[in-house]
Amino acid sequence: MAHTFQRILVTGGCGFIGSNLVRMLRRERPDAHVVNLDALTYAGNPANLADLEGDSGYSFIHGDIRDRATVDRAMDGCDAVMHLAAESHVDRSIIDSLPFVRTNVEGTQVLLDAARARATSSEPVRRFLHVSTDEVYGQLPLDRPDLLFTESTPLAPSSPYSASKAASDMLALAAHHTHGLPVVLTRCSNNFGPYQYPEKVIPLFVTNLMEGGTVPLYGDGRNVRDWLHVEDHCEALLAVAERGADGRVYNIGGNNERTNLQLTRTILELMGLGEDRIVPVADRLGHDLRYAIDATRMREEIGWEPTRSAWPDALLATIEWYRANPGWWEPLKKR
Ligand code: NAD
Repeated sequence: MAHTFQRILVTGGCGFIGSNLVRMLRRERPDAHVVNLDALTYAGNPANLADLEGDSGYSFIHGDIRDRATVDRAMDGCDAVMHLAAESHVDRSIIDSLPFVRTNVEGTQVLLDAARARATSSEPVRRFLHVSTDEVYGQLPLDRPDLLFTESTPLAPSSPYSASKAASDMLALAAHHTHGLPVVLTRCSNNFGPYQYPEKVIPLFVTNLMEGGTVPLYGDGRNVRDWLHVEDHCEALLAVAERGADGRVYNIGGNNERTNLQLTRTILELMGLGEDRIVPVADRLGHDLRYAIDATRMREEIGWEPTRSAWPDALLATIEWYRANPGWWEPLKKR
């Protein structure tokens, strides 16, 4: 049975994926009111949703997911929660891990508690979507292209970021198992597209090159990532929220594996630039070798497949978006 929602709380709606999701919800589910709760950390940018100003179907609450009173206020009347707020950058988690535990673990539990407290009210949360990452599975070897992450792959996170996400995944599933909270959980591969903070590899490289600079490539560039366009991810999140089964995990992927060197070369090619722009830098500590997703469950049970991630066209369109919007990324890089 597919759910229809009247009022959806999105956490982290001023971030990269959250802002694309809020915009998509307003476009594709215009009857649902969207509440966006965001603390506006360095990664949260109200400019990401400037086009929704004056939209009566959208409201913004500036607040922290760890603050129960704020969460209660934001969740009031909501029949669905789509939880994306997180500290999300692996490199930052290596330098300073505690904010990741605070937001990703503690913040998730506060949201779960608030949703549970509403279970016996006249307006219960009928769906709690916890948005996670394929990084919780750890890494795959480079010499076994036949191996993919499935939903039953044991969790083996390797960075403080992925460890904090894995902890939050376990708490979300425990809230379902123990209290019957209608949790669904998604684990997605690397996203790309508009409004991604220019610390992540694609917008960092593209904007560096637009500024006439170079691109810092970790190690020998052989690490493999699977790339999915953010709008494909958002479509998948909505589909799982509406049609997923309580307590179930869904892997979301683009079937689009590239080494970091291949990705870099494609960006350079699409921008008409040469490999002299590549500057090798010391490898990331504990750098996972390969992520790859088996998204069979999404296809067979949810009926979802990526439609907007075609390579390299979707990458070229993303480059064009950053070219057309220097007013969005230049202030972020100056910080
Ligand atoms: P992001 O860093 O761009 O955005 C995170 C947002 O959360 C920001 O708007 C920030 O202000 C907000 N936030 C942070 N701490 C908060 C707090 N304590 N209270 C309220 N708001 C807070 O992240 P993103 O790339 O959009 O990722 C969104 C979610 O998707 C995360 O949960 C992440 O783990 C997951 N995910 C991301 C990717 C990816 O490739 N970016 C892939 C798979 C899963």
